[in-house]
Amino acid sequence: IIIGSLDIIAGVFDCPVIYPIPRHMETENLVALTMEQLQQILLPDNPSEDTLFVAELLKGKIAESTSKDIAVKYFNQVNSQENAIVLGLCTEYEKDCPAKVKPQKEGYILHADKLTVYLTGADKNGLIYGVETVLSFLENGFIPVCRINDFPRMQFRGFHTGLPAREEIPFFKRFIKYVLAPMGYNTIFLEFAGGMRFDRHPKITEMWMEGNQKAKKGEWPAFPHGSMVAGGSVLEKSEVTDIVAYARSYGLEVIPEVQSLSHVQYITVAYPEIAEIAEETKAKTKYDLNKEDIPPSEFYAHSYCAAQEKSYEIIYDIIDEIVEVVKPVEYVHMGHDEVYQIGICPVCKDKDPADLLAKHINRMHKYLADKNLKMMMWGDMLHDVTRYKTPPAIDKIPKDIVMLDFIWYFHFDKDLEDRLLNHGFKVIMGNMYSSHYPRYESRILKDGMIGAQVSTWCRFDEYTLGYMGKIYDVLYSANMMWNDTYQSDARLIYDKILVDMIPKLRSKIHGSTYPTMYKTKKSVPLRLPYPQPAACIPK
Ligand SMILES: [Zn+2]
Repeated sequence: IIIGSLDIIAGVFDCPVIYPIPRHMETENLVALTMEQLQQILLPDNPSEDTLFVAELLKGKIAESTSKDIAVKYFNQVNSQENAIVLGLCTEYEKDCPAKVKPQKEGYILHADKLTVYLTGADKNGLIYGVETVLSFLENGFIPVCRINDFPRMQFRGFHTGLPAREEIPFFKRFIKYVLAPMGYNTIFLEFAGGMRFDRHPKITEMWMEGNQKAKKGEWPAFPHGSMVAGGSVLEKSEVTDIVAYARSYGLEVIPEVQSLSHVQYITVAYPEIAEIAEETKAKTKYDLNKEDIPPSEFYAHSYCAAQEKSYEIIYDIIDEIVEVVKPVEYVHMGHDEVYQIGICPVCKDKDPADLLAKHINRMHKYLADKNLKMMMWGDMLHDVTRYKTPPAIDKIPKDIVMLDFIWYFHFDKDLEDRLLNHGFKVIMGNMYSSHYPRYESRILKDGMIGAQVSTWCRFDEYTLGYMGKIYDVLYSANMMWNDTYQSDARLIYDKILVDMIPKLRSKIHGSTYPTMYKTKKSVPLRLPYPQPAACIPK
């Protein structure tokens, strides 16, 4: 037997690496256009706003990495399309475009040949992803002769985070521009809790600020989700509008996560009268905070009462205010996870918890439907797990609610999503931590699995995200969401690609080039602890 060639996992790549890995890519060992040859970005006459935005994005990113100022011109201003990247939507320059097939939704087609590169996007997202492919090539100094037909695998490629703290908004925007958009994400699930000023409920805003301040001073237990939403402070509505508009401009739809029923400490701390608390617990909650260590779960009421009308009045107002600011295109995420405190207050204690949950879900669904909006929610409480009191609710709620399924990590051996799919729901893999989602390849193929979501549950700053492994997680998961040839066995190969990418990417999201020589601004010679051959020691 003669082995002609051998691929070594995580060895070196003999072709340019584009990541997430394109669906169909053929490259030749020939140069189409070098960075030196590139002179212009050419657009069809009368381009759309989207095409203009993407052309400026390409021009701007080239200028950032090379200081080269590339002119943006139109077809009617030039005689030749050479030394150019021609870009536009497929509807804008169908006639001139060399691609025979149309790009797929959110996809693009890239044809690079002698001195001209044609990039055709199906839509704005497709153009943004295509531009990132062009930029990845240009990092090596040239675009090879190639034909790429690329488009995402999943409908929802999501990233979950809390509202950023005010001082982290510039970083949040860089993260969108240099990480989320280039990695093909199209959805941000944005958790609000008490992190935006609510005009109709100043008491919520006041108590959220006070609670977080007291928690920081150690006077109260940590406010649940306090530091991860707006850094425990409050953003003004104009700041939220600005963040949302920025994300949308990069092709990321913002789905607000309005925590309702559960994880509503931001509400119950202001309105303790609607807290879902058993009578015996209520009697017990006269603590001396100087003497006792109280877990946040006891100090704060996790749920409000699903039977009291006042609960609905408050949550409707909160939905209204958030929807007015975010203006969601289609979906609102209504929380409903970890509803352990249900059917326990004096009003509810004889009621069926599953009925209470279903009633709350149905009223949220109807309230959104009246605004022409659809609903998403966490799916855990519908699972048939001994600890939960509410699984029968699964038969009592509308099937068009999209379920974010996350308790897969409590049940590694089971395909838990089957219960939701079999009941007719569409499912998004919730909190899909790339490092350990079991049987990913077979589970994503099931009918009704429409997306995935990487989650952060921490403050949104570069240090914390890096420390928690979230930057890696976002990058790794991007390819799982994008490319249908993803294989968990090939982890070492993806790791190798990411290891090469991360230093440059960190400089971009940091806003200055690493290493930053933090504090000292001086380099410190490193003494190696073993003897070196004389020739290896630099003078
Ligand atoms: Zn109740």
